Amino acid sequence: MNQTNEKKHTLLLVDDEKSNLLVLADILSPYHNILMAKSGARALELAGDNTPDLILLDVIMPEMSGFEVIKRLKDAKDTTEIPVIFITGLSDTDSEEKGLSLGAVDYIAKPFNRAIVKARVETHLKIVEQMRMIERLCLVDPLTTIANRRDFENRMGVEWYRALRIPLPLSIFMLDIDHFKKYNDTYGHPQGDVALKAVAQSLTATLRRSSDFAARWGGEEFIGLLPSLDDPKSALEIAEQIRENVAALLIPTSDGNITTLTASIGLYTAVPSIESCAENFIKKADDALYQAKLAGRNRVVSAED
Ligand code: GH3
Ligand code: MG
Ligand code: MG
Repeated sequence: MNQTNEKKHTLLLVDDEKSNLLVLADILSPYHNILMAKSGARALELAGDNTPDLILLDVIMPEMSGFEVIKRLKDAKDTTEIPVIFITGLSDTDSEEKGLSLGAVDYIAKPFNRAIVKARVETHLKIVEQMRMIERLCLVDPLTTIANRRDFENRMGVEWYRALRIPLPLSIFMLDIDHFKKYNDTYGHPQGDVALKAVAQSLTATLRRSSDFAARWGGEEFIGLLPSLDDPKSALEIAEQIRENVAALLIPTSDGNITTLTASIGLYTAVPSIESCAENFIKKADDALYQAKLAGRNRVVSAED
């Protein structure tokens, strides 16, 4: 259970009757941060600004009913995932049915029973936490624990559109470990895994700006995003630093040997345009990587348009 001094979740309570709000706040405020709204319009405002973890929503309110509020919450990108529990009168089974069809997760009947209100809220907050955990796990590469390809693609979409709107250049790099098959053949697959972790750590440690982002693309390939660099040369410098740091890694084996490896990097920098697309950026970086391999590996090749 949360302690009073470390409340983790924020709840939005919505009811046109102040006394109902006060009773709910009295039950829940020892455990959670509380926001309160006396109208649908105010509820939408608070939900948009604060993205609460859970909303308790009265059905019958003047001006805007709870049904209208939930429809608008579900229609807006920022609030669509927030679970909503409806607050209804005891005998109001029609409302319950309608509310569930609109996406409510549960009901709390008036007059409030303290234990039931508390239990229902805790159940739904637990589900919220489990969903978040699943989302996190879906975005992480289990071996290296850095971001995976799916997370990269999400991030790439966001950064690509941002760079298109402003507009600003965006750099993408693709890194592939050199002769990694031979590394595995020489030291064994488990040691190959150790090396992959070391490369992933080196890569994320080299990217210090919060906007930079790297992920495991698959196998022994990594991909990175360097947004908003005013000067394309600095992307090249970062890529060169990544290459150097990987080449400088001293990776110990379980029997006390020290191994090293190198990586090749393909870089592409451009200002996004409506005619180009995010996939095109990745393809250009991949082409540059191919050129780096052809030219002898352990080098950075920057693609030109
Ligand atoms: P190049 O310099 O041209 O990139 O040669 P390479 O040997 O690195 O490339 P190739 O594509 O022939 O081999 C990639 C190797 O990476 C083969 C595969 O077993 C290994 N590999 C891919 N994923 C993993 C992994 O998760 N763990 C380990 N240990 N090895 C992996
Ligand atoms: Mg490869
Ligand atoms: Mg390789």
